[in-house]
Amino acid sequence: MNINKSIYQSFDVCKRLVWLLWNEGEIKNRGRDESIFRLALQLYPQGFDVETIQGDLETVAYQTKKLLRKPLFNSVFISSCGAAKIDILLPISDDYWEVVSVVAARSIHPSVIKSIAFDVDTLLRCGVEVKKCTALTINPQYQREGEIDPKKFFVKHDITRRVAVLVSQVEDVVSDIYKLIKLSEPPAATYGKHCNRCAFFQNCWGELPEYNFIFRKSKKMKDLIQSRNFDLKTAINNALTERQKIRINSIISGQPYINHRAIKLFLNRLEYPLHFLDFETVSTPFPIFQGTKPFEMVPFQYSLNIVETPEAEPIRFDFIYEGREDPRKDLMSELRGAIHPTGSIVAYNAGFEKSVLKSCASVLPEFTQWVEEICQRFIDLLQPFKSLNYYHPKQNGSASLKTVLPILTGKGYDQIKNGEQSQQEYIRLICGGLSADERAAILSQLKQYCYTDSIGMFWIIRELKKLVGGKN
Ligand code: SF4
Repeated sequence: MNINKSIYQSFDVCKRLVWLLWNEGEIKNRGRDESIFRLALQLYPQGFDVETIQGDLETVAYQTKKLLRKPLFNSVFISSCGAAKIDILLPISDDYWEVVSVVAARSIHPSVIKSIAFDVDTLLRCGVEVKKCTALTINPQYQREGEIDPKKFFVKHDITRRVAVLVSQVEDVVSDIYKLIKLSEPPAATYGKHCNRCAFFQNCWGELPEYNFIFRKSKKMKDLIQSRNFDLKTAINNALTERQKIRINSIISGQPYINHRAIKLFLNRLEYPLHFLDFETVSTPFPIFQGTKPFEMVPFQYSLNIVETPEAEPIRFDFIYEGREDPRKDLMSELRGAIHPTGSIVAYNAGFEKSVLKSCASVLPEFTQWVEEICQRFIDLLQPFKSLNYYHPKQNGSASLKTVLPILTGKGYDQIKNGEQSQQEYIRLICGGLSADERAAILSQLKQYCYTDSIGMFWIIRELKKLVGGKN
């Protein structure tokens, strides 16, 4: 086994993690955005992709050395310190090379420079003299017109000096890593934020009770998690805020906490006709619509349910865009036609829906005044749950719609269960390659998902009214 970038970067995060990765884990390099990487390769049409060579790492590294006079993609090098896979390696003279790294982001995080320093150290040990280091980042100002032009899509940064400063540290760090991984036992676990997303969480902290979020989110509770003391009575004695006490008491009693007065005040703010609005958006490094930019948040769908009076049933309005042009004008025109001039607009985490409307108005100034007006009419249904005016022990610390809806109403989602999945399915829908039946199925699932987010708010309000004794 060889030390790679992933191990090298983890050394700064947690020594125990490095030991576990080496001795008990699977050592992988971090994933990358292949679509962005493949686009960057178009900048070097003479390049050869080393990944097409069959064989184990040693074989590929051996073959790489024979190909050094060509621009190489995914070239592999193994030195006494570790193994490196280089995105793009360019010969710039008989004796010198340039390392080009593709960064699927707008800027370069310091950890990226550190990992490139590891690569360069490996290259130097293999006799490849690196003269220049370049990072390619995404140009956030690039506006798609037709096929994406990689020359305009990427920004080149000369990072030679920044990398050079760190190359001199690689040997010492690698030597410390080798000492560490040879220990017969891993270093003791120390709890920190990084643990919460670590694959070895259970290895270090054991099986936690469902209510472990109480222990994880409070700094003062760090000692409890370190001592594996998950007793709720101890927790409540250590609880510092009313919010912690509400949650812990609710877990102990198994009953929801309901602040009737605050919920009534919230419901009294609703003015008919009620509009329940939910947007779905797409935001990708690769602009999928003509006229849009990398990472731009572009709405492609909404579901609106309008309830005219307390006795009325909801009337459903759906919009989903299926073309490849900018969908915002069609979406905003339809929405403006559907929303009444008066009445509350209810959204869950309304700041998001308002930000979508404002970002549309920033590129479509004819909607600015209307957006300003309707933004005054938003009511955020997240608020009573975020403020713990209602808290159920099964929420496990979450106030999201996906958590609250099934708890309060017993209803939930079908195939598409969250916004990320909805974005992925939408990209599949419009980027082609699907049969008519597959398209129809995805379209129906997307509509059902967005509709559930919208009508779910109506169902939640109906339940809140029942809880506090309101009408309809
Ligand atoms: S859970 Fe925390 S202490 Fe354990 S390996 Fe992961 S980061 Fe390190």
